[in-house]
Amino acid sequence: MLKTTIYLDNAATTKVSDNVLNAMLPYLKEEYGNPSSIYTLGRQSAIAVNKARSQVADALGCEENEVYFTSCGSESDNWAIKSTAKMMAAKGKKHIITSVFEHHAVLHTLAALEKEGFEVTYLPVYSNGIVKVEDVKNAIRPDTALVTIMYANNEIGTIQPIPEIGAVCKEKGVIFHTDAVQAIGNVHINVKEQNIDMLSLSGHKIHAQKGCGVLYVNKKYRLTPFIDGGAQERGRRAGTENVPAIVGLGVAITDACNGIDAKNAKLKPLQDKIYDAVMKIDRVHLNGDRNIRMASNLNFSFEGVEGESLLLQLDLQGIAASSGSACTSGSLDPSHVLLAIGLPHEVAHGSLRISMSEYTTEEEVDKFIEVLPVIVSKLRSMSPLWEHIIKGETFKIK
Ligand SMILES: *Cc1c(COP(=O)(O)O)cnc(C)c1O
Repeated sequence: MLKTTIYLDNAATTKVSDNVLNAMLPYLKEEYGNPSSIYTLGRQSAIAVNKARSQVADALGCEENEVYFTSCGSESDNWAIKSTAKMMAAKGKKHIITSVFEHHAVLHTLAALEKEGFEVTYLPVYSNGIVKVEDVKNAIRPDTALVTIMYANNEIGTIQPIPEIGAVCKEKGVIFHTDAVQAIGNVHINVKEQNIDMLSLSGHKIHAQKGCGVLYVNKKYRLTPFIDGGAQERGRRAGTENVPAIVGLGVAITDACNGIDAKNAKLKPLQDKIYDAVMKIDRVHLNGDRNIRMASNLNFSFEGVEGESLLLQLDLQGIAASSGSACTSGSLDPSHVLLAIGLPHEVAHGSLRISMSEYTTEEEVDKFIEVLPVIVSKLRSMSPLWEHIIKGETFKIK
């Protein structure tokens, strides 16, 4: 099997850091007690879980009793939205506001609620990939139960005006949830200062292991349990805790949040370097705002190129990246995110997402920007579509 040497797909998942692994190891070996057991071995696991809970609370600026460990970011999104919907429906509020380019964990949850009689307003994100605070304000109605808007988009990396949206929701008395799975470790977040009532995050996007997430819930709200059973997570999310993963997540979020400024200082010049190099290629477009985006992310569309072919060619060079192109997901439609910012289908199909981490090096970036233009030319030389494009016989992009 070919070895991936350059990993530029950190928005898909990240490697487990040494700090995280070292913190986890004792809980995979000798410290295997059940946190609910009263003897020492069990109590030590309970102490470890509590420590992780306080690390998460410190990182988010909330209280420990507002942190719930879940199995993933998707579960956190499902729980926050479904439980809030149920809670507010009991008060006659069945309207939910979101954006068109949320993660599927949010969009598909909302689609399920629509089938149960909830009404959902999908706000536009315009060509820059950013929700307008005014639109949120105008969409709020007396029967609005919840506003759920992601903090940073997972495909195009744009950062949403979350503190401003939080302020509007607070003023109007509407519960505000944000999917911050991508934003954690990239943007400074404080749930109290930013008026966030509920927030989802996931361990594996910040160098913890897969299958562990967090839902923060303001203690004003008592969500219905997501899993009924034992008394874990204050009776709201039963099931014996995934102690090693939770311990790892506590370390990961501490490192990620303490490291934001250093990470951004390192990645911004690399982002600029990639941008400058890639924009020299003919007929390429940056997707999402040039500045209001995470330093780790770039997303381009290359006219006359199939995203999937691009990924395969990069893979042959040992480079892992991602595309909003169709077939990777087994569907023929291009990414809903790229369509939401107004890309024509053909252009959306030729997209490439680069997502870096603090482990990305300048040498890796140099290698990437060296091979990319060669690959793009090669693919275009084989593309019948490219012929039409350069003759101006096809679609126009704004
Ligand atoms: C990855 C991701 C999720 C899902 O998290 P999982 O832990 O993989 O379930 C949700 N939202 C966003 C924005 C993501 O990037």
